[in-house]
Amino acid sequence: MRFHILTLFPEMVMQGLHTSIIGRAAERGHISIEAVNIRDYTLDKHGKVDDYTYGGGAGMLMQAQPVYDAYKAVAEQIISEKKPRVIFVTPQGRTFHQGLAQELAREDDLIFLCGHYEGVDERVLEEIVTDEISIGDYVLTGGELPAMVMVDAIARLVPGVLHNTDSAVTESFGDGLLEYPQYSRPEVWHDKRVPQILLSGDHAKVDAWRLEQSLVRTKERRPDLYMAYLERKKG
Ligand code: SAM
Repeated sequence: MRFHILTLFPEMVMQGLHTSIIGRAAERGHISIEAVNIRDYTLDKHGKVDDYTYGGGAGMLMQAQPVYDAYKAVAEQIISEKKPRVIFVTPQGRTFHQGLAQELAREDDLIFLCGHYEGVDERVLEEIVTDEISIGDYVLTGGELPAMVMVDAIARLVPGVLHNTDSAVTESFGDGLLEYPQYSRPEVWHDKRVPQILLSGDHAKVDAWRLEQSLVRTKERRPDLYMAYLERKKG
């Protein structure tokens, strides 16, 4: 799986994504991540990539030309039968969730476009973007953090990235439920004991306890997910 991130701050993206599990996955070749500096493609002799918005208003807008040329350079080097999905990260998009991460993890290449300032000239978005995705109903200064959030969530679903293939399945949202509570050593900490059943060695009982805890937790914390889970079970 290859991630291509169009950004004005490539070093931020590369530093953030080249640590820990995702960084090791890139080193081992399970995924590749390239950050493309949109500024490298501007035709402006002063390196400018933004300008005032027509009609007035606060702030600057990323111009169409450098974004388009950066996209073209990336798209031309992708050898694939189908056109890669181009994700514009924007608070105006549909909200990112685990199901979407699973869907996107099946692609060979994904191109992310990170906006900055007031955003990006609408005309280039119309030409290149296939998906507009948000990470939640709040506004950040730039698209780098949202792109990193999405790349992390997608990359860990790519086969080989996580050591334990089970972990992505049993985790929160894997089966539509929140994960059960977990404990590590010592057995007693601040007078709090690890639930006895987890020390029993009886795997069937442990599994049953975990499912029950997942159900209780999901019902309490995310009744919307709980209801959807019950509906699925019925159907
Ligand atoms: N003027 C835009 C609006 O009102 O929709 C917001 C621009 S925001 C200051 C700059 C950039 O940050 C956006 O173009 C987008 O790429 C990114 N961004 C900000 N919040 C985001 C969010 N919740 N999800 C995804 N991207 C976001």
